[in-house]
Amino acid sequence: MSEEDRYSRQQLIPGWDQESLQDSTIVIVGLGAIGTYVATILASSGIGKLTLIEFDTVEVSNLNRQLLYYDKDVGKPKAIVAAKKLKEINPKVQIEFFNKKMEDVSVSVYEKTDLIIACLDTFIGRRWINSMAVRVKKPLVMGGMFAFLGNVQVIIPYETPCFECQPLVPDEELTQACTPFGEERKKEREKEEEPPLPAVATMSSIIGGLMSQEALKVLLKIGESLENYLFYDGLNNATTIIHLVRSDDCPTCGDLYKLEQIQFVASPKETVKDLSLRLALTYGLEKPELMIEGSFLDPDKQIQKCKLSEKNIAFVLDKNLAKPIKIVIQIKSD
Ligand SMILES: [Zn+2]
Repeated sequence: MSEEDRYSRQQLIPGWDQESLQDSTIVIVGLGAIGTYVATILASSGIGKLTLIEFDTVEVSNLNRQLLYYDKDVGKPKAIVAAKKLKEINPKVQIEFFNKKMEDVSVSVYEKTDLIIACLDTFIGRRWINSMAVRVKKPLVMGGMFAFLGNVQVIIPYETPCFECQPLVPDEELTQACTPFGEERKKEREKEEEPPLPAVATMSSIIGGLMSQEALKVLLKIGESLENYLFYDGLNNATTIIHLVRSDDCPTCGDLYKLEQIQFVASPKETVKDLSLRLALTYGLEKPELMIEGSFLDPDKQIQKCKLSEKNIAFVLDKNLAKPIKIVIQIKSD
């Protein structure tokens, strides 16, 4: 077999662009059941570079469904074993691996990738990777399974609903998401206990296959992207698409929260008009007006002469905004 034959069958598919796949990098977070199927499929398909992130070691209970691990691998770090096997499957693919937690991998790794695939079995882990994907503005394919039930979601930050936009996230969980990179969340994740979940290889292959397919479609820009939430019930052969909408109030990707986290610096002698102009330029507003405790600020007044509220919170109103946004004015000391 000549090397040109390797991808010849998939190249028969209309719209397939092998070169663009060879120029692509994908980060795979989590190399358990679904992750090993995803990694195998994407390595075989000829993605240019795969970055594997997993801190766990191989256990006997993994062997029923985790494709890349054999008897002899028990006790070894999954990231190292997987990297070696994938290199054997396709030596053409560049493999980078991190035998550590995703939170401990440098942000630059996520920034440099073309797409992130998250194969995580915890809710908190999914929320963390969603925050990261939104932060670095990279497409995220996320999926999970429980016995014969599975789900897949594709998130294009600021275009499609993110993991936190949806009503599927309980309220109390949402509030914690306001500090996506805070120490609180890190601690929460560390103390988290993971009870064993029911899992079967058929589901890892189905969900892993669907996720890989969505990733390929995003990279190849073909087909209809799954911009919503797909729910699969293997026992009843039922597929349900749950239509989600983006939320302005989303703590991770919503405009309101995005602006709220930003301290808008003003100099004491600057007028309200000048500050409004800077707000307009920064956030694409038309003619923003500033309001504090129910009254509009005089545009000609200097910031130092305005009566600010206790925490320097002001509301910005503008034609381009569906509802007022909250900012914190930080007065620069001259
Ligand atoms: Zn969101």
